[in-house]
Amino acid sequence: MVKRVGLFGGTFNPIHVGHLRVAEEVKNGFDLDCIYFIPAALPPHKDTTGLVDAQDRKEMIDLAIASNPGFEISDVEIRRQGRSYTIDTVTAFQGGKQENTAYYLIIGMDQFFEIVTWKAYEALFEAIPLIVMTRPQEPESDPSKRFDTMLEHARLHVDKGYQARPDEMCLVHDTKQPIYMFEVTPLAISSSKIRALARQQNSIKYLVTDTVEAYILSKDLYSHDT
Ligand code: ATP
Repeated sequence: MVKRVGLFGGTFNPIHVGHLRVAEEVKNGFDLDCIYFIPAALPPHKDTTGLVDAQDRKEMIDLAIASNPGFEISDVEIRRQGRSYTIDTVTAFQGGKQENTAYYLIIGMDQFFEIVTWKAYEALFEAIPLIVMTRPQEPESDPSKRFDTMLEHARLHVDKGYQARPDEMCLVHDTKQPIYMFEVTPLAISSSKIRALARQQNSIKYLVTDTVEAYILSKDLYSHDT
């Protein structure tokens, strides 16, 4: 039996219920055995203002996923330190000792449109199938138009050999791994929104789990920008 594993990287500053819910939907939709949440040590493409310590972000993930046996955490990027490149993480998982495991890389659509700025992105498209989750702030709300936009983007910026399989919401290629578009419940929740609320001393209740809320309050994590 092949084990099916999702790799879900992010800054998780902090992890919120949007992350948890969409991961749950992907897990069910793709029949994955588990999903690894992988906090970046240092995100290469993000402003690091307000970025709390990696250990705190890891602790919050531990708290948030504690009740879900299908969710795991990997500190591979934290241990590697420095800028966290997804290609290195994928290589680490695929080169590990887990045999008979099929890996999937899970990203939000906002990230998909930036992926060509990532280190060795061409190698990434060859190495691992992508699951691209929709996100509410995208300019296009019609799913089929969104799919066309993804296809156009992949052909223009990655390789013109991508073909559409609209029935499966999938882009296929002769030599590269498939790219799936996956509709998730639109949850207009982001870590930046949560940090802004916390900075203004506003409630973050129900945007994060109770355990994460308690952790943020007890350590006074986002009340000032650092
Ligand atoms: P920030 O607001 O600080 O940019 P974020 O909320 O986007 O953070 P990240 O840790 O950067 O959180 O997200 C990790 C991954 O989860 C990214 O691929 C992102 O696109 C995706 N993601 C985050 N929130 C959602 C959401 N509400 N719906 C779908 N995907 C999401």
